[in-house]
Amino acid sequence: MPPVIDHKKCVKCGYCAQICPLDVIKIEVRGKEKKTVIKYPEECWHCRACEKDCPVKAIHMRYPLSHLMLHMKPDGGKH
Ligand code: SF4
Ligand code: SF4
Repeated sequence: MPPVIDHKKCVKCGYCAQICPLDVIKIEVRGKEKKTVIKYPEECWHCRACEKDCPVKAIHMRYPLSHLMLHMKPDGGKH
């Protein structure tokens, strides 16, 4: 699952789009309006570079269930 952008916090600096190694994120420009969009969500490999480097912490990761289960003990607890 791709990251989620909080558009109330996002200042549309474009940094996440620049650093994403898989070009998942794009800045769309329509006239004077700019918007940060998750353009190719299925390409995201959850490296967290965008989340870590966003200057205003506007990006949060959502992990697929399969990823979450890797971090769980057999008894259901977390490591
Ligand atoms: S790095 Fe953060 S503030 Fe900049 S465009 Fe991406 S989500 Fe928006
Ligand atoms: S987590 Fe990594 S691959 Fe996914 S959108 Fe962010 S920078 Fe790109």
